[in-house]
Amino acid sequence: MNVYDAQRMVDTLQPHGFVETASADDADLVILNTCHIREKASEKVYSELGRLRVAKDEAARQGRRINVAVAGCVAQAEGAEIINRAPVVDVVVGPQSYHHLPELLARAERDGRALETEFPAEDKFAFLPPPKPDVIRARGISSFVTIQEGCDKFCTFCVVPYTRGSEVSRPAAKIIDDVKRLADNGVREITLIGQNVNAYHGEGPDGRIWSLGTLLRHLAEIRGIVRLRYSTSHPRDVDETLIEAHRDIRAVMPFVHLPVQSGSDRILSAMNRKHSADDYRRAVDRFRSVSQDIAFSSDFIVGFPGESEQDFQATLALVTQIGYAAAYSFKYSPRPGTPAADMQEMVSAEVMDERLARLQELIDSQQSAFNKAAIGTTVDVLFERAARNPGQIVGRTAYLQPAHVMAPETIIGRVLPVRIESLERYSLLGELATPLVAAGETMPAHISETRMGA
Ligand code: SAM
Ligand code: SF4
Repeated sequence: MNVYDAQRMVDTLQPHGFVETASADDADLVILNTCHIREKASEKVYSELGRLRVAKDEAARQGRRINVAVAGCVAQAEGAEIINRAPVVDVVVGPQSYHHLPELLARAERDGRALETEFPAEDKFAFLPPPKPDVIRARGISSFVTIQEGCDKFCTFCVVPYTRGSEVSRPAAKIIDDVKRLADNGVREITLIGQNVNAYHGEGPDGRIWSLGTLLRHLAEIRGIVRLRYSTSHPRDVDETLIEAHRDIRAVMPFVHLPVQSGSDRILSAMNRKHSADDYRRAVDRFRSVSQDIAFSSDFIVGFPGESEQDFQATLALVTQIGYAAAYSFKYSPRPGTPAADMQEMVSAEVMDERLARLQELIDSQQSAFNKAAIGTTVDVLFERAARNPGQIVGRTAYLQPAHVMAPETIIGRVLPVRIESLERYSLLGELATPLVAAGETMPAHISETRMGA
């Protein structure tokens, strides 16, 4: 979501004469888009601000002004503290107020500094200008689109309900417009995003409330869109329309990110997740009942207050039972203002480290078995861009595995079958399974020669 938000800030500033620079050193304005989800992410902001202070002082000596803005969830949660602690900062802007950036910059110019962390009454999406066609094309064939923001679930460890506010779904017609504009300018894959994306319940153009499944059904009809993904889902919000979308719609990718956090019911209840480990297993089974191809990824927290070895064993058992294609795992990080931050029975740092290592070893072994299983098979790959190796093009499988082939750049933006020959770390290597037939799609000479030589 921060990648998407950063792009929307660029789109907001472009009409005001800003262009993106390749490096922060060349910029007149540097925006740090920040994450507050774990302490480590928050801390990075202050170390980065220290670096920017040096750059700003140096620029001032040369008679050049650099404005520094802090955006995102750290800005939302610690705005006043940032203003007090970091004189280098000119503007602080919370995630719901990006559309006010030009105005805030003008205010900072006039008054010295500007801060906005209130949740504005208006919907920022109504004011954020759409990206220009050349900008869309430059960003590539895969794009994020926010459909839902905020969260009303209040898991006891999580800052999201406080930093992003309560759950809001964008109207479906606006999302359809966004996706059409992207598709018209070369985008082939859309990832719908939201903190609780499958809690989506936006107003449809027919006046009814649309679920995520209904929205996916309509987006799949947009010309040019060949792949649809969504993230992040909550196990409680898996409804029948979503399962049916996986059953019926080819464009909906069979890869579901479904965080569970823990396999222990005792911990899930202390986390206020509002689902048990068995509820989660049932949700996975519902997806699998409509397609055996569906693979899962998840998020895990180890060392939540009170987590015993037995609780942790329940997490390992759940991972073993489900079998993941990938997963993210984190050490519990107490966040000020959340209920879990006041819980006693902290798990020691050593135990957390040790549990994280054991969990990651299990997940890595599952991921590598999943990737190895692709060798010798033919899989569909959506090609994204030229790879670092000359002549190679890289794309992604349905399961987001990077896949490399030797081919001309004309295949970028197309889904083609690839025979997977080997695996290099996390990347699959293979060759196109069918000859390219359209005009201009012959192999470049140097590639054919290499092949013949080999
Ligand atoms: N809405 C999603 C869900 O319900 O699973 C998760 C969104 S959260 C931005 C992404 C992940 O960060 C969570 O799934 C969780 O694993 C992790 N996370 C959130 N708060 C955390 C904390 N205080 N300490 C460690 N990890 C945390
Ligand atoms: Fe945070 Fe997700 Fe829980 Fe909402 S559902 S509070 S975003 S972890």
